[in-house]
Amino acid sequence: MNRWLAGNVVWPLSERLVGRDTMRRFQTLLVSDRYSARDLADIQQRKLARLLRLAGEHCPFYRDRFRQAGIDPRDPQLGLDVLSALPLLERDDVQEHLDEMTWCDCPGGPARPYTTGGSTGQPLQFYIDRCRQSADWAARWRARSWWGLPPGSREIMLWAGAGRVAVSTPDRLRTLRDRWLNQFILDAFNMTDRTMDEYARQIATSRPRLLYGYSSSLALLARQMLNADRVLTPEKSPRAVFVTGETVTPRDVHDIQAAFGAPVVVEYGSRDCGFMAGGCEAGRLHVADENVIVEVLDEHGRPTAPGEVGEVVVTCLESFATPLIRYRVGDLALVPRRDEASHDGRCPCGRASRQLTEIRGRITDQIVRYDAGEVRRMHALSLIYVLREAPGVRQFRIVQNSLQAIDVELVADGRFTPAIEESVTRALRERMGADVEIRIHRRERIAPTASGKHACVVSNVECAVV
Ligand SMILES: [Zn+2]
Repeated sequence: MNRWLAGNVVWPLSERLVGRDTMRRFQTLLVSDRYSARDLADIQQRKLARLLRLAGEHCPFYRDRFRQAGIDPRDPQLGLDVLSALPLLERDDVQEHLDEMTWCDCPGGPARPYTTGGSTGQPLQFYIDRCRQSADWAARWRARSWWGLPPGSREIMLWAGAGRVAVSTPDRLRTLRDRWLNQFILDAFNMTDRTMDEYARQIATSRPRLLYGYSSSLALLARQMLNADRVLTPEKSPRAVFVTGETVTPRDVHDIQAAFGAPVVVEYGSRDCGFMAGGCEAGRLHVADENVIVEVLDEHGRPTAPGEVGEVVVTCLESFATPLIRYRVGDLALVPRRDEASHDGRCPCGRASRQLTEIRGRITDQIVRYDAGEVRRMHALSLIYVLREAPGVRQFRIVQNSLQAIDVELVADGRFTPAIEESVTRALRERMGADVEIRIHRRERIAPTASGKHACVVSNVECAVV
């Protein structure tokens, strides 16, 4: 598909068909991209006042929370400083009070159920709306436009699950739509030497303008290409490789750049909060201030000093189905040092939106298995998905100590019946191989790692090929 047609006709049209005004939002974001910090703060103040008013009117949970904090959500003059008067929102709060937090007939509704919990091992169900979805896509494409990539640019994604499951009708429709939008998916859950050679060939042949995927999966593919001496020649290189979902290590960056001949750009987002920040030409992450307020807090709940690492706390300004106000995402971020910022707070790239230097604390392991005598590396998400979808699972950790067995620790409630346990075991065995033992251990609680993060997958199996 021609880039112009895909980006200017097919994309806006397909978004409109599903009731999303993504193109309008994208164009608005291109304008505010160069706003001063003060203008961006004005936008945030207006949107925050709207969010608090609507959440106070439609969500009993927030109505109580505002009353306890002494905040009148109908006051249109509420400033951004009002946030610091509100307690942080925990995943447990959302899990326990979902009904009182959800507004079914919200703008962009009806609210649709959504599950998350991949990287922290604590599944969470909540609701999203179309405002949130279009705001996400608009901000994502704005961040890509910084790299000379307009909507409709040919894209290859190394992503979850393509080709693993029997193709149902909606998937087929999605595949067709993806083709019209110039988006192609390679299966990140099925990376063997053989499939990776095939992926490298497809990338060299179809010459995408951008690559997108989990950093560990792209790094794995990059190393395979480097070993096989199949690096992309400059005329076949994409403009940028976008990595997401996990911490990207310096070695990953080096290998991805060497194999694909393009800069590695971090995209920071989560299923709960959507797109939050994208990398710029100066190597910083710019928060989509028009859509989210990102606070980085120290252990006392105060804003982190420049140059320090703190916890990411997010308020989603364009999400109304289950409003997330001061939500603890579970990530750590590094704030630029004072001498790295110019006097007016602008990044060397010229943008004044909130900047982060680095996201820390999200490393998802690869799981290793044997398949017909071949060592097969799978993205751990293929197992995480099974537990995330199972009723009653409140928290889990998957530990792999050998190729013969997988241990699953989990905290579950009454909905996790013996029948569910059996189906979880079966699904995990399907992914790991019939001869792998799946051992499920019920726990009262699962202690976080030293960094405070619930690493949900730990693989202690050395993979000789990597
Ligand atoms: Zn910048």
